[in-house]
Amino acid sequence: MTKIPHRFYLSEEEMPKQWYNLRADMKEQPAPMLNPATLKPATLEDITPVFCTELAKQEMDSTTPYFDIPEEVQEMYKMYRPSPLVRAYSLERALDTPAKIYYKFEGNNTSGSHKLNSAIAQAYYAKEQGLTSLTTETGAGQWGTALSEACSYFGIPLTVYMVKVSYEQKPFRKAVMQTFDGNVIPSPSATTEVGRKILAENPNTTGSLGCAISEAVETAVNTPGCKYVLGSVLNQVLLHQSIIGLETAKAMEILGEYPDIVIGCAGGGSNLGGLIAPFMRDKILGKANPRIIAVEPASCPSLTRGKYAYDFCDTGKITPMAKMYTLGSGFIPSANHAGGLRYHGMSPILSKLYHDGYMEAVSVEQTRVFEAAVFFAKKETILPAPESAHAIRAAMDEALKCKETGEAKTIVFGLTGTGYFDMTAYSAYLEGKMTDYIPSDEELQKGFDSLPKIPGIQ
Ligand SMILES: *Cc1c(COP(=O)(O)O)cnc(C)c1O
Repeated sequence: MTKIPHRFYLSEEEMPKQWYNLRADMKEQPAPMLNPATLKPATLEDITPVFCTELAKQEMDSTTPYFDIPEEVQEMYKMYRPSPLVRAYSLERALDTPAKIYYKFEGNNTSGSHKLNSAIAQAYYAKEQGLTSLTTETGAGQWGTALSEACSYFGIPLTVYMVKVSYEQKPFRKAVMQTFDGNVIPSPSATTEVGRKILAENPNTTGSLGCAISEAVETAVNTPGCKYVLGSVLNQVLLHQSIIGLETAKAMEILGEYPDIVIGCAGGGSNLGGLIAPFMRDKILGKANPRIIAVEPASCPSLTRGKYAYDFCDTGKITPMAKMYTLGSGFIPSANHAGGLRYHGMSPILSKLYHDGYMEAVSVEQTRVFEAAVFFAKKETILPAPESAHAIRAAMDEALKCKETGEAKTIVFGLTGTGYFDMTAYSAYLEGKMTDYIPSDEELQKGFDSLPKIPGIQ
């Protein structure tokens, strides 16, 4: 057999022309979203005031397995896709493992992450619908950057509520968004009612993703021709991100490979849901049985220590409620947490699959994550995003287990992005100033206390 190349790219013709909707093959569906006003399952009419019509349809569709990727979206994808499937020969040698390690590298675009895959789709549908502006939130800044890029390409004005701690720590992220005409506002802000309320209660807050979401939704609902778009968690985002998994599965097929283990970092679950989609389908249909592992930070452990319950997707409690693994919408990760993946909840699709035993989850402490990041950077010459380094850590740990057992497992992980805007965190690690923080059960309980009480349900 010919040697597997270091970097394998599909040709343009081989690129997927459709997204895959994993729900269509799930044996049991995720619980329906609830309308917070009526506590009844949310309908298409309930969510269309907030989302673009086409995206609302995708959100609610649990039966259509494949959606055509619109031509214009495919065209923009081709400017940075296919992304390479890399065989980590150098990392394998350094770990002295018999395992074969592959990673799907999504950092090769200006946003520096996989988020552009969904941003393009969402900006496209907004333009198609004739919307005149969009709002969103961003945590570490990748989503805001990705959406700014997509919105400027399609000519739609965008307001980005950026979690205050990131706004202050990452001025260059802000500048990139502004380069693409994004209007960036630190959250919580005085521009919304929910922001003013949160500031009144807690003037020194460094903000949270949930809070930024509330502000973005409020502005969208109060502005004519404006809708809110979200970069993770939602079913529609996992649908768009399936491009990652579809490309990976096709590339592996061409290379004559199939993964024993698929690993991804999990914030809201979009890259993981996208990467695993075709492999999870095989698993659900009994065609293969890969292990699928979600990796999350020990300081924000929604799958490993959260509750499977209905919760709001935002701190302001104005979005529909979703049943998911959650730490409570009131949960705000410790300020020393530098590694991204700060969201309190998890994609309802992934939550259901995890609950039903199709998936494993591990949590890792951030110093071990950065140790893996630096090790990986030196071997593979890519400076990973801290988020991605969670997956690197778990992949290295699995490869080291193979070294002990002598098994030559095939491991695939998602390298979601690059870390150039995270050098403050890298410096803290390199200077030995980074600490680990694991919330106590009592601290987590405070977040759980914020879970909604729903008569007859929870
Ligand atoms: C946003 C982000 C993540 C986490 O988001 P998911 O929705 O869980 O995929 C991971 N890696 C990078 C580089 C990101 O920008």
